Amino acid sequence: MQGIPNQNKTLSYEALLKKAKDLGLRRLETTVLRFPSARAGYAVCSATLEADDGSIYREVASVPAVSSSGETQARAVECACIRAKVHVLEAFTGLKCKLDAPAPAQRHVGEATLAPIQSRKAPEPVPDEACSECGAPLTYGHYEFSTRMFKRPLCAACQINTAASR
Ligand SMILES: [Zn+2]
Repeated sequence: MQGIPNQNKTLSYEALLKKAKDLGLRRLETTVLRFPSARAGYAVCSATLEADDGSIYREVASVPAVSSSGETQARAVECACIRAKVHVLEAFTGLKCKLDAPAPAQRHVGEATLAPIQSRKAPEPVPDEACSECGAPLTYGHYEFSTRMFKRPLCAACQINTAASR
């Protein structure tokens, strides 16, 4: 079972993680460096990757929390952790990951003061329903369930992975 067909040279998060394991990924950890607060509404996470040959990679990612609700803040933390992991996996493998830009809570129109982040964003607008891990399209049921359970949209496979890794 070789060669997942992928358009461009971007991989899903899962494919990237698998690739990294093939290349000798030993350990992948994330640390929350900052929780969003009223004063600084963004989350910062770092990811540390240790390879079999002992080399260490470390990347940091920050994600703004668009509102001060606990749910939004928790989601910003999750997103920052995922982004940090993607960055460190990209640095390790030399490959690019297609990560859907986490859709900030846009339900409340009129509070659209979200400054664009410097880090790269998904090339095209992503519907809320896409899986935040691998970008797979979601049914509304999965979307609703996973955002309630995991604070972010996840497909069935990623829900299982996420649940298993806790
Ligand atoms: Zn997924």
